[in-house]
Amino acid sequence: MRLVTFHHAGRRQVGSVLADQVTPLTMADAQDGLLPLVRHLAEGGALPAAAGGPLPLSEVRLEAPLPHPRRNLFCVGRNYHAHAKELRETVFKDSPKDTQAWPIVFSKVPETVVAPGSDVILPNSVSTQIDYEAELTIVIGRGGRNIPREQAMLHVFGYTIINDVTARDVQMRHQQWDLGKSFDTFCPMGPAIVTADEFDGRDTRVRCWVNDQLRQDARTTDLIFDIPTLVETCSRGITLHPGDLIATGTCAGVGMGFDPPRWLRHGDVVRIEIDGLGTLSNRFVDEGA
Ligand code: MG
Repeated sequence: MRLVTFHHAGRRQVGSVLADQVTPLTMADAQDGLLPLVRHLAEGGALPAAAGGPLPLSEVRLEAPLPHPRRNLFCVGRNYHAHAKELRETVFKDSPKDTQAWPIVFSKVPETVVAPGSDVILPNSVSTQIDYEAELTIVIGRGGRNIPREQAMLHVFGYTIINDVTARDVQMRHQQWDLGKSFDTFCPMGPAIVTADEFDGRDTRVRCWVNDQLRQDARTTDLIFDIPTLVETCSRGITLHPGDLIATGTCAGVGMGFDPPRWLRHGDVVRIEIDGLGTLSNRFVDEGA
C-alpha cells in the first residue's frame, strides 16, 4: 500500500495511491497526516473506508507523510561502506575503519520536516556549507522496547524518503551533530509511505541528483548496519512508538566528499529517488529571498 498525506479542497487529508490516483480515506483528524492511520493499522485495525472517489494526483498537493512526527527522528550516521570510505578520505581522516561495533545515532527535531516540492531555506547568516543526504527511512509500526533483530521486521510499518539536509560547518564545530541537522526546513520527507508488505528496504537503489547531475547512487545492501540491527539498536532501553522514524544514513556522493566540496546554492534542486518509493524533489533558496 502506498499512503500519502495531501492537501485538497482547503484541508489536509490522507489517502491511498494506485497508479496516478489517490483515494481519500476517512480519518477523524488528518492534522498529523498519516500518524493516526499508522497507529490504527499497527494495532491491527482495518483500512478506513474511502471518503470519496479517487482524485488525480495531479490535482492534489502532496504533503510530508508525517508532517509532525511525534518526536525527534532517529538518524544514523556514516552507515554505507562507500560513504564511510569517502569520509575517511576527506573530512574524517582520523576516523577508524568502518568496523565500529555500534552505529552512530543522532537526532533531528521534528519541526524540520517539510513537504515534497517545498523550498528548503539556506540559513546564510549561520552556515555557508549546506549539504544533501539521500536516505531510506524506516517508519515504525507496532511499538516495542528491546526489540531483537530477529523480530525487528515485524515492527517496520513501511518506508519513506528523507533528505537529511546538513550544515557541515555547524555539524563539525560541535561535538554533537544535532544543531547542524536541525535547522528549519532541513528535513524534506515523502512522497509517500510504502508499507513493508509490498516494499523491501533491505535491497533497493537510492539515487540523488543536484540540478539533474547524478551525485549519489547506491544500493541499501551496502549498509554497514542493516535495518533489523538499526531497529534493535534504537529500541535498546527506549520504547519505540508507531510513527517513529529511523533514517538509515546516506550513501557516497555528498557535497562534502568532493574536492573542493560542492555546497548547495540558491536555486539548486535536489531530487532523491528510491526504487519502489518514488521521488522527493526540493529547491534550495536563500533565506529572505
Ligand atoms: Mg544523514
